[in-house]
Amino acid sequence: MFDKIVIANRGEIALRILRACKQMGIKTVALHSTADRNLKHVRLADESICIGPPSSTDSYLNIPAVISAAEVSDAGAIHPGYGFLSENADFAERVEQSGFIFIGPTAENIRQMGDKVAAIRIMKAAGVPCVPGSDGPLDDDDQRNLTVAGKIGYPVIIKAAGGGGGRGMRVVRSEAALLAAISLTKAEAKAAFNNDMVYMEKFLENPRHVEIQIMSDKHGHAIHLGERDCSLQRRHQKVVEEAPAPGISTELRNKIGSRCVQACIEMGYHGAGTFEFLYEDGEFYFIEMNTRVQVEHPVTEMVTGVDIIREQILIAAGHPLSYRQEDIVIRGHALECRINAEDPRTFVPSPGPIKWYHPPGGLGIRVDSHLYTGYTVPPYYDSMVGKLIAYGDTRESAMARMRTALDEFVIEGIKTNIPLHQDLFRDAAFLQGGVNIHYLEKKLSL
Ligand code: ADP
Repeated sequence: MFDKIVIANRGEIALRILRACKQMGIKTVALHSTADRNLKHVRLADESICIGPPSSTDSYLNIPAVISAAEVSDAGAIHPGYGFLSENADFAERVEQSGFIFIGPTAENIRQMGDKVAAIRIMKAAGVPCVPGSDGPLDDDDQRNLTVAGKIGYPVIIKAAGGGGGRGMRVVRSEAALLAAISLTKAEAKAAFNNDMVYMEKFLENPRHVEIQIMSDKHGHAIHLGERDCSLQRRHQKVVEEAPAPGISTELRNKIGSRCVQACIEMGYHGAGTFEFLYEDGEFYFIEMNTRVQVEHPVTEMVTGVDIIREQILIAAGHPLSYRQEDIVIRGHALECRINAEDPRTFVPSPGPIKWYHPPGGLGIRVDSHLYTGYTVPPYYDSMVGKLIAYGDTRESAMARMRTALDEFVIEGIKTNIPLHQDLFRDAAFLQGGVNIHYLEKKLSL
């Protein structure tokens, strides 16, 4: 097992990784920018190293700075968390070339899944259901592209192979608009991702976002930990997540989960990963794979009892998975609210000093947050400052605990989106379960 791990991230996920390391008896090195000296995990880590100025480009995204700090620290492995360098194949490669273990999959797997056309090809071969589409990149043959779209049926969506973060996509509702949309998306993709490869898919009008969590070791074993429903989104950003997804049967979960497991084995994947699907009329359609731990991993931890970060570390150290598929039982229901430092109505970020911080508690309540009274939220990074997770035997009891916890949560000094969550947890359609990915934006526009 590793003696020491470098945490190459910040905020709540850095604290989450630190806690797992401490519980496993592993020493920690916190890498931080000059704006982050007072982060909770930096204070709690065995060592901390400043890697640059506030701007993430110069610190958390600066590969040479991260690698040289790791070298100074004499650690065995680097945990990238989510965001920042976590899905950067060049970084994963540099980490391993420098003699460290990258806590995540191989650079090759990251690269394959970062290219959505390649990812879809691999998934199809493994029997994972995909959205009907162009089966590969579009070329400059206008007539062929018109035929492909005609076969798929309008509306279609043109997507950049190298796209991410909800950018590089365009919906086309009629044949007349197709060719212009393809050239526009290509030009945008070239500018944004330096890769003008685009492909076409059927545009699903009212899907839900349902994703499958997998874990795979270095010995060819893989399991799935069931699914999460993350349909409540604003501008492609998830706001509330839950596990299990309302209305998904055990049979369907196991059917789709075992396809994902198969894909992992065929790719030689190791680590944690998430297969993202659109779910419409009882069918799953793969859209992309995330090759890292996700923000919403706690809801899966609550319903399975698996510590996903601990398992990531064990896998990276070469241990076999601690669980067989039959050990994984989905029990109860978990919900997660992303707590953002922002105005609950305008969504304008609201950094600043925290005057009072009183997190909620009680049975079934978990708070993953780096906030404390006296801490100042810096303006340079993502506005998410924590996650409130509620667990219950049933969805209703988890909902009731979440409502109570939200009403109890005090964060003074900055604005947060807690009032938005209070509203949502009293919304009739959400309470019923199974709203689609457009529901929140429609509700907000009323
Ligand atoms: P990104 O990597 O940018 O997040 P995704 O492929 O995951 O790109 O798609 C982001 C979002 O775009 C999805 O969550 C969904 O809301 C929408 N989307 C993508 N593909 C389709 C599709 N075929 N039909 C309908 N909506 C889609």
